[in-house]
Amino acid sequence: MNIKRNILLNPGPATTTDTVKMAQVVPDICPREKEFAGMMKSLRADLLKVAHAPADKYTSVLFCGSGTINIDICLNSLLPEGKKVLVVNNGAYSTRAVEICQYYGLPHIDLKSSVYEQADLNAVAQTLDANPDVALVYTTHHETGTGVLNPIREIGALAHQHGAIFVVDTTSSLGMIPFDIEADNVDFCMASAQKGLMAMTGLSFIIGNEEEIRKSKDYPKRSYYCNLYLQYDFFERTGEMHFTPPVQTIYATRQALKEYFEVGEEAKFARHRRVFEAIHKGLDELGFKDVIRRDIQSGLVVSVLYPNDPNWNFERVHDYCYEHGFTIYPGKISTTNTFRLCSLGTIDTPDIEAFFQTLREALIHEGIQIPIRY
Ligand SMILES: *Cc1c(COP(=O)(O)O)cnc(C)c1O
Repeated sequence: MNIKRNILLNPGPATTTDTVKMAQVVPDICPREKEFAGMMKSLRADLLKVAHAPADKYTSVLFCGSGTINIDICLNSLLPEGKKVLVVNNGAYSTRAVEICQYYGLPHIDLKSSVYEQADLNAVAQTLDANPDVALVYTTHHETGTGVLNPIREIGALAHQHGAIFVVDTTSSLGMIPFDIEADNVDFCMASAQKGLMAMTGLSFIIGNEEEIRKSKDYPKRSYYCNLYLQYDFFERTGEMHFTPPVQTIYATRQALKEYFEVGEEAKFARHRRVFEAIHKGLDELGFKDVIRRDIQSGLVVSVLYPNDPNWNFERVHDYCYEHGFTIYPGKISTTNTFRLCSLGTIDTPDIEAFFQTLREALIHEGIQIPIRY
């Protein structure tokens, strides 16, 4: 089968290999069969390896849903009665965590700081000193809205010094930038299959400290479908998801993990880095400016400033690129007009060179001045 290859420069879902696409085409199977449970067992073990999580201390729990389900589950399941969440918030994804706290009525502190900068460690330390009832510190590793990478190891150390667990949204970094759950002082991390692992949408997973999950058995139950202990316990007893799993996505994820380990994490990290450098080179050549300091960029998302050109219209440039097989993505910074180019997915330098050729054509087609004016 010949499947058209699109280059996705949006922040997930990512461009996948044909072998991952085809892994979804399998004989019909009831997911309650032992064969399927066995597959999920090895998949859960492989996910631990991606996070370098020792199997005697950590476990992974699978859910059917997009990545946001993980944020919802961790927050509603891991907060003991009478305790508070501290959200270290410098972007749109941590803001989502704050909204979840609001929806569940969870006591929380929204420690907001500039979306253009890394989280402020002094502010985190001061807030923890002043609020001994914080039991859960939460942040986002890579703020996908801006491309800022946060100093999670340092935040995790502060959380632990203050007796709190540390939950990190690693949805847009796991499997793409080096991460070691213990060395990074993380108790719970999370992702979904269509980002770093380059599989399909519909499967999300939380990797975390098993003892903390067991403790949470006695915490207030705030959701039925989205409770971490319930799903963990069901997996431990039966090897299955409590409710129907995303069957085909699980087959694709198994194949994607196989390819992840074959390539090896170092080579994969290096490829993402290479693509990121190629994006910057292409932007520099056209005269585009990015908005985040280079030394705090994740290497996975570049936020690009809209030109000051009367002919600039993001939608039209997007549509031109899209028709030519390249997907670019709007920004997520409320105060600045930006668009994003991302280095997720199974793409490499020649794809980026081909993209910039198309982008140049789009700019000429739209009558936008090159080099870009600001
Ligand atoms: C993609 C992403 C999510 C999940 O978003 P969904 O739309 O639910 O898939 C969560 N956190 C971060 C940092 C992300 O990049």
